[in-house]
Amino acid sequence: MRAIYLTEGGLEIREVEEPKPGYGEVVIKVNYALTDGTDLKTFLRGHPILKRGPFGHEYSGTVYELGEGVEGFQVGDEVFGVNTAPCFKCSSCMRGKFNLCENLKKNMVIGAYAEYLLIPAQVVKINLFKKPPELPFHVAPIIEPLSCVFHALEKVPLEDVENVLILGSGSISAMFSLVLSELGKEVLITGRSEEKMRTISENTKVKWVKFESLKGAFDLVIDTTANSNVAGMGLKFVNKGGYMLMFAGFREGEEIKIEQPRIHYSEIQILTSFHHTPQSVRKAYTFLLKNYRSLEFLISGFYTLENINKAFENMAKGLGFKYAITP
Ligand SMILES: [Zn+2]
Repeated sequence: MRAIYLTEGGLEIREVEEPKPGYGEVVIKVNYALTDGTDLKTFLRGHPILKRGPFGHEYSGTVYELGEGVEGFQVGDEVFGVNTAPCFKCSSCMRGKFNLCENLKKNMVIGAYAEYLLIPAQVVKINLFKKPPELPFHVAPIIEPLSCVFHALEKVPLEDVENVLILGSGSISAMFSLVLSELGKEVLITGRSEEKMRTISENTKVKWVKFESLKGAFDLVIDTTANSNVAGMGLKFVNKGGYMLMFAGFREGEEIKIEQPRIHYSEIQILTSFHHTPQSVRKAYTFLLKNYRSLEFLISGFYTLENINKAFENMAKGLGFKYAITP
């Protein structure tokens, strides 16, 4: 089969063997894999967890082959899901920190930019779903980043929050915008791309502002940019008693400067969130089924495996939100 590999020299299309499902595993024929900010970061500068090799982790497809012992799926089922599942046995899982499972890497879907994709047994059991017919194949993979958004919001005491500032003009910013507006919060976004902020605003009804014109104080500021300067400046806009949520992960070793008295005397809480849990995946599933039409604008274009570099070049230039890659 054809598959995309991330190498030191960039993305390469390779002819490799089709995956074979082991016990409890499923192989799907990929319909779409979506690009995202994590893939872009890995592509541009490497990632602390994701290494070079098979690439892509947001997927939808059709069940092609079942391993022994698989329950609940049949060949031909249309499916979508997320990229990992917790083991429920390690020390993190025992503390209920399923997003921090020590065995995430062993139960990880990787290599979605390919014709066929192996879904590990634990993901089949916990985080793979039959796709309702109305949910389009190219929108379904959004369940993964959306699960991260729902996990992040579990970290914030939302009852304390009336207004929110979101730093960044990408797809994660758009997802936070939609979810938080639905929760009745007043949302403002600010980011690099005016065009993308305008698109988000037209599609989600939230307001946007240029960073230079930003003023006021916000009960919650969310950084989706992974830029330490932007995140640092965002801190200045957190209201007394408010929260700063660092959603995006910086580059390995990168630090942020914090004016301690500013956060101490205003009792500002800095929160972080990473990845998703089975609970947040289920929240995302429900939200996606209800709101997939409002999320479809995040698919900015379609490319084949052969043309995947164009999708990443666009993203590196800040053009578009997510691209759907089809084998
Ligand atoms: Zn675990």
